[in-house]
Formats: sequence, C-alpha cells, structure tokens
Amino acid sequence: MPLTLVTLPCLSDNYTYLVHDDASGETAVFDVPEAEPILAELKRRGWTLSHIFLTHHHDDHIQGTGALLAEAPATVIGARADAHRLPPLDTQVGEGDAIAFGGETVEVLEVPGHTTGHLAYHLPRSGILVTMDSLMHLGCGRLFEGTPAMMHASLHKMAALPPQTVVCSGHEYAETNIRFARAIDPDNPDLISRQREIAAARSAGRPTVPTTLAQELATNPFLRCHTPQVQAQVNMAGADPVDVFAEVRKRRDGFR
Ligand code: ZN
Ligand code: FE
Repeated sequence: MPLTLVTLPCLSDNYTYLVHDDASGETAVFDVPEAEPILAELKRRGWTLSHIFLTHHHDDHIQGTGALLAEAPATVIGARADAHRLPPLDTQVGEGDAIAFGGETVEVLEVPGHTTGHLAYHLPRSGILVTMDSLMHLGCGRLFEGTPAMMHASLHKMAALPPQTVVCSGHEYAETNIRFARAIDPDNPDLISRQREIAAARSAGRPTVPTTLAQELATNPFLRCHTPQVQAQVNMAGADPVDVFAEVRKRRDGFR
C-alpha cells in the first residue's frame, strides 16, 4: 500500500513533510521547524506520530522538536556526526543505514555541502526523497560549511536515483530561484513553462514543492553545470563542472 505524503508550510518559508503508512498506522515527520502546524495536522487526520527524522542542525529545522515530543512522543533519528548539535537522538545514523518504517525502508544518504552533517532520506519503494536544504527546488542550499566539490557530489548522488523520485525540499524559494535559473539558463524551454506554473501556484497560495528528480534534472541550474548552455552563460565553456558549480553558487549568493 502506498504511503500518504503531506506537505506542510511552517514559519515564514519552511516546509516539513508528514509521511503516513496506513497498514501499520506509523507516521513520520521530516524536520520540525515548529510544533504547532504538525500537531494540528496529526490531529486533523487522526494520525499518531511514530518517527521524527532530522536532516540537519539549523534552528529552522529542529527548534520545534522538544515541543512536538511533549505532545507526541516518537523516535528521533538524525546524523551521528552531528549528534552534539542536534536535539537528543534515539537513533544515530550515517551513510547506508536503513530504518524500518511501516512497510518501507528509509535509507540514509550523507549529502554534505549546506552543512557537513546534512542527511537526505530515501524511501525507495514509495519513490520519496527528503532533501531539505541540500538539493532544493530549482536550487541548492547555501554552502555554510561544505565545499563546492562536496555539494556537487551530494547533488549528483541524489540525482542518480530514479527520475520519477519525488523531491521534498525545505523552503519556498521558487520565485527567486526561477528568476535566477532563467538568468543562468535563458534558452531552456522547460524553465519558461515552469515559471508560469510557479506563478500560478504562488498566487493561489499553494506550495511549489514537492517536485521530481526528472523536473530538477531538466531545470535546476545546479544540476546542469556540465551543459554547454550553463557553461557559456558564465563564460566557462569546457571547464570542470565543479568549478562551474562554484561560480553558479557564488552568483546565486549575490542574486536578489
Ligand atoms: Zn539549513
Ligand atoms: Fe533551512
């Protein structure tokens, strides 16, 4: 039986995701920007929380964990490498570990770049990948701790999963990201249609996430640093894609 995936806006522009398995009754949440919207959604749907998966230590992804646990006790899972700066973990994980969840397995990928300890969670049977601030919709997380080479490798590790995989990222940045993507990859026809969809979603107050890997591979400039189009736009024809990635990331840092 397939899982139910719920996208939940939190704080000003964060997203968290609830995943529910009907057969076992288990419910997981991925990151806890704040407890209130998660508790309200659990109550509304009559679901009982069983697992909290944390992707990285930034406050806007973990700060509601204590308040959530006070109302909805659950197993907390996060990176072994970052245990010292995450809420208390019941289960510490790293690359290649797998956690049983309902009839699924949640596989752990280490995806350093935004932070050195950032994890992604892959549910292969359901085709769900929780990326948060690593691979993002039309973007990627800012490099606060890792190097361009680290993030580039992390992005391509995730991009190698099946193209129909659903990508659950951590923030509503689509409107800025699409303007940047169009500046970096101006002739990409998929970006033109995507821009209309994003404008429609946002004016209706709908999230622009989740997306799919196929969609990101076609439109995300950070996954397209090997293409002649992106390389030409940053005057780096034939350059190492990691160097192109570093340049594109630098330009995005200064883009408003
Ligand atoms: Zn972050
Ligand atoms: Fe974040």
